[in-house]
Amino acid sequence: MSIDFEIPAEAKAVREKVRQWVHDECIPAQERVTDKASYEKVVAELRAKARAQDLWMPFVPKEYGGMGLGPLANALVQMELGESYLGALSMNSQGPDDATILTLIAHGTEFQKEKFLKPLLNGEKRVCYSMTEKASGADATGMRTTAVKDGNENYILNGEKWFSSAASVADLALVMARTDTEGPRHQQFSTFIVELPNPGYKIKRDIETMAMEGPLSHIVGGGHSEIEIKDLVVPAENIVGGEGKGFDMGQHRLAYGRLRHGMHNIAMAQRALDLAAAHITKRETFGKKLDERQAVQFMMAECASQLYISRLMLLHIAYKAEKGMDMRQENSIAKVYLAHMVHHVVDTAIQLHGALGYSRDTPLAAWYTHIRSQRLVDGPDEVHRWTVGRNVIKAFKANGTTAGACGGDLL
Ligand SMILES: Cc1cc2nc3c(=O)[nH]c(=O)nc-3n(C[C@H](O)[C@H](O)[C@H](O)COP(=O)(O)OP(=O)(O)OC[C@H]3O[C@@H](n4cnc5c(N)ncnc54)[C@H](O)[C@@H]3O)c2cc1C
Repeated sequence: MSIDFEIPAEAKAVREKVRQWVHDECIPAQERVTDKASYEKVVAELRAKARAQDLWMPFVPKEYGGMGLGPLANALVQMELGESYLGALSMNSQGPDDATILTLIAHGTEFQKEKFLKPLLNGEKRVCYSMTEKASGADATGMRTTAVKDGNENYILNGEKWFSSAASVADLALVMARTDTEGPRHQQFSTFIVELPNPGYKIKRDIETMAMEGPLSHIVGGGHSEIEIKDLVVPAENIVGGEGKGFDMGQHRLAYGRLRHGMHNIAMAQRALDLAAAHITKRETFGKKLDERQAVQFMMAECASQLYISRLMLLHIAYKAEKGMDMRQENSIAKVYLAHMVHHVVDTAIQLHGALGYSRDTPLAAWYTHIRSQRLVDGPDEVHRWTVGRNVIKAFKANGTTAGACGGDLL
């Protein structure tokens, strides 16, 4: 018996094709984007070209016009796309649209697929996701936005949302709201498709965050909006997955999301460590190069260890995902670990660069401000740790050992 870490040849081939696409087309195209009009023109040109080469929606099944890649191959491709901010956009693989495309494929009605999914698949529309409110985030069951049935035709929504990413460039919004107050807690909420712009869904502002933004950030959809929902009329046929199913529809996205974010984190951390290595091999203090100092070597060693652990975690998750195995425990462990890993490695690279690391002359400062959100989005650290810890105790009570909850089935 052997443990096989080999990436399949087809996955390597598609990764290579996408790598070339990003280097030959997306990175040079960035130069041509100076404002909204040029951005739209460049994205349209790239998309036409990408689609002609079958580089279109790597994660979407072939019958829906995508490339039909499995979790591992898709994650490898996403990592390449992360090299350019036009990468994912060029192949219609950008977040947060990607997650909703998967939701509509899995849970949409024929009507919803025809009316809402089709334009998303064709790259003609964009969609955002509005669940979080000022009133509730990690525990979304505290949501206050309500949806009340008005006859058989419509629901009327009232409330507020915030941190809806890309809302200001979206043509559609997936909005979660309470449809029931009596039933079990997780069955009181439903998801609605809202067509934008809409007088009942008013974007009050794009929230300023700690993340460093460039002049094009909001044109591309990098903003996070605060929204007022007032007497918003939504046709009953726009409810996704049925009434009360708002919380039941996320599981199928688990591997997709984790592998995608995880790969991005690894790519960023690797680049940060390379920048650190390039710097310490040149910089001299107190008569010696920094790379000759054991304290500095230890810092590099810690980063290398964390990167290695992260890569192994992702490979294991990809393996479980490819085989359709339950990976919720590993997923939560990796979610927290990878977010801390990238934070630690970028922070170390900044430290070793000294004031240069704190400046905007390297990309490190911008990365640092962006990745802080990783410990909050998709469930904050503490909520995942809470679940992981409970599973550890549960495993011990069931089996007399915690091994089953700590990757014990690996060895
Ligand atoms: C960059 C970014 C993009 C986002 N995009 C979207 C989007 O597109 N759509 C959307 O709907 N939402 C989005 N969000 C919101 C995100 O999902 C929430 O921020 C997240 O769920 C946490 O909710 P909260 O901010 O209300 O924190 P809270 O729920 O108020 O929690 C605050 C803190 O309390 C602690 N905590 C919470 N629960 C527990 C517990 N059980 N045990 C111990 N400690 C706990 C944690 O430290 C947590 O960080 C985005 C957020 C960010 C930062």
